[in-house]
Amino acid sequence: MSSLNDIDSLGEIFRTHQSFALMSHMRPDGDAIGSQLALGHALEAIGKTVYYWNQDGLPDSLKFLPGSEKIQRPPAEPIVVDVAVALDTATKVRLGDSCVHAASHATLWVNIDHHLSNPLYGDENYVDAKSPATGQIVFDLIKAWGFPLPAETRDAIYVAVSTDTGSFQYASTTAHTYRMAAELIDAGLDVGRINALTYDNHPFRRISLLRSLLNTLEMHADHRLACWEMTDATRMELALQPDDSEGLIDMIRAIEGVQVAAFFEELPEGRIRVSMRSKDASCNVCDVAMAFGGGGHALAAGIRMTGPLADAKEKVLSALEIALQQGGAAWNVLCKKLRMAYCWSINRPTWHRMMLSRLRGGHSIPKKLVIAAR
Ligand code: AMP
Ligand code: MN
Ligand code: MN
Repeated sequence: MSSLNDIDSLGEIFRTHQSFALMSHMRPDGDAIGSQLALGHALEAIGKTVYYWNQDGLPDSLKFLPGSEKIQRPPAEPIVVDVAVALDTATKVRLGDSCVHAASHATLWVNIDHHLSNPLYGDENYVDAKSPATGQIVFDLIKAWGFPLPAETRDAIYVAVSTDTGSFQYASTTAHTYRMAAELIDAGLDVGRINALTYDNHPFRRISLLRSLLNTLEMHADHRLACWEMTDATRMELALQPDDSEGLIDMIRAIEGVQVAAFFEELPEGRIRVSMRSKDASCNVCDVAMAFGGGGHALAAGIRMTGPLADAKEKVLSALEIALQQGGAAWNVLCKKLRMAYCWSINRPTWHRMMLSRLRGGHSIPKKLVIAAR
């Protein structure tokens, strides 16, 4: 059974089963961990058995969340659970192999998410791309099902939504989001304290990283595209943790005139992590991410791709420049076949150069390229 948006049947699954493995995406952010803790504590409050797994464990920056010590790396061998639940995870692959393996004995997979690119990989899928955060979906579900709202759930939902909306700033934030925050405060949330713990408590390493990133800042496309990069050597030199860079990209997105920001990070295994942010939907960075096998949202998306760093940067910046042409129109008019040709050409330098020069010049794509990509 795979149905979308059927709140009651989803509620039945949580009521009638006993044990749950709650999981979220690798390199977890506030929404990933917050959604796990929020749903998990509501389930525990009605007597369920809950495991909280994340391939990369709990980031130091979220240790202040009550109950967060329950977030563990998945066990090496599968555990028998009734239901596996993926939260805030755009594709099953983003859970990481160890999570998928640990939950492989589950009889049912539930996918609760807000990513536009989510391919509905669960047996049950509740994906609402309009929701600003998975945490807000979890809040709505818990309320609709009449489940309790323990303090751990309350605090986790607030942090999940606050971190995914840039502190309730992005356009995805609605009146409903603010009403939800008000309800959480009515339920006893200490808003000053939780914001201070979320935003005013960064390790000094993060500022060292910021200094290093600023030294790599580049502006492209008539200053409409800003990017910076971090090498693995910098990570080692500054003894950085994965979450130290979380949210820093917003600084270059905020530059006047900048429409798109990109962050390139060399991962220890030589692959490249790309983070992208757009200021408005005319330039959809999810589309660009998907062309490289990544995904996300229209205004915030990511990719993991092969290196080296300079190559990844050149490919992604070229695509972003095209996406930016005529307010995103140039990318949007690439019909499906052309996009397929574009993606195919990415790892074929001669074809790709030809494709880029034609696109930049406003010319159509040679038919032979479209045919070759089929
Ligand atoms: P980030 O830039 O890592 O904060 O990610 C921005 C958004 O895109 C988040 O909602 C991520 O979950 C999503 N995202 C990042 N990387 C990927 C990827 N490789 N595949 C699918 N979604 C991604
Ligand atoms: Mn997330
Ligand atoms: Mn999210």
